[in-house]
Amino acid sequence: MDTIGILGAGQLGSMLAQAALPLDIRCRFLDPSPTSVAAAVGDCISADYSDNQAQDTFLADCQVVTWEFENVSLSAVQAMAKRAVVHPDPKVLAVKQDRLDEKKFLQSLGIETAPYAEVSSRQQLTDAIARIGLPAVLKTRRDGYDGKGQMVLRQAADADVAWAALSKYPLILEGFIQFTRECSLIAARGADGAIAYWPLVENEHRQGILHRSLAPAPHAWVVQEQAQGVMRTLMEALDYVGVLTIEFFQHDGRLLTNEFAPRVHNSGHWTIEGSVTSQFANHIRAVAGLPLGVTASRGHAVMINLIGAVPDRAALLAIPGVSLHLYGKEPRTGRKLGHVTIVHDDARKLSQLAAAVEALVVAAAPERAL
Ligand code: AMP
Repeated sequence: MDTIGILGAGQLGSMLAQAALPLDIRCRFLDPSPTSVAAAVGDCISADYSDNQAQDTFLADCQVVTWEFENVSLSAVQAMAKRAVVHPDPKVLAVKQDRLDEKKFLQSLGIETAPYAEVSSRQQLTDAIARIGLPAVLKTRRDGYDGKGQMVLRQAADADVAWAALSKYPLILEGFIQFTRECSLIAARGADGAIAYWPLVENEHRQGILHRSLAPAPHAWVVQEQAQGVMRTLMEALDYVGVLTIEFFQHDGRLLTNEFAPRVHNSGHWTIEGSVTSQFANHIRAVAGLPLGVTASRGHAVMINLIGAVPDRAALLAIPGVSLHLYGKEPRTGRKLGHVTIVHDDARKLSQLAAAVEALVVAAAPERAL
């Protein structure tokens, strides 16, 4: 049996391990957290990423190392890359871990983003607002996720408030995009350069966290080709191996790139039931040097996150077609505890079933209502 080492042992790691098992591949995890979702499906080493002894145990008999989370220690991953094959290439982390480097990299490839400016002093913030205009979003350059570490500036006075809250971090100011919708594209690239794309997904966020994904995005064909072009450019520039996600703002029938995630992504969970090959299975195939699987859809799909509280399990499962994934985490406000996927041939019927799920989700966690 082959072994893949995964940095991070949350639900993404768990779903990767579940996809690996039928291929006779086991996953071993390294994560600083003492309690890990993935402990149910593979060996978990609970230690700092830089812990030498933990790295020895983690890397023993490991054919390849990958990650489920991009904010892992870059120096630890670079050290591991001297001892094992690491996919994707650790250089992608160097670009991704800093929003400013990420934006510069995207623009160097001719990929359109929101206007942005580096902010490391109050004067630079004033200058950036003068150049970019308001509204704008002030974001920490590092360690931001699920809308954390960012504030929207709507009027000049908001600059002082945002500066007071965030000035201890390196920052970036981005123009606020009045998008018509948010979309994401997920694709897998094999070691041979073959790329398999899933259809573009429409994503709805609530309180900065993904609430629901619809696949394919309605009228995806308008922008699917543009999205795939951006994906190909980025994957080829990074000589990428594995699954990559790009988040877009759709604005005036065109896509602006918000950011990318060098990993499997919450907006691709629907692929477990909704695609011939899931994002998890194709990431495992790619990093293991195996041929990619077909990414054709099995119907229209909706994925709804269970955040903060889990509705009654039997009530959810009584809705026809519901696939339920619970991560075994302790409930906490704003925490992703699981997700529901429904796949159906008929988009109208699917939206009725999704509404039934939404009603249970909001009853369990009223703060998730719009
Ligand atoms: P991020 O962490 O950059 O993905 O931001 C989280 C969410 O905040 C996004 O999914 C958007 O809903 C919103 N957001 C972030 N940046 C912008 C922007 N420049 N313009 C409009 N909305 C944004």
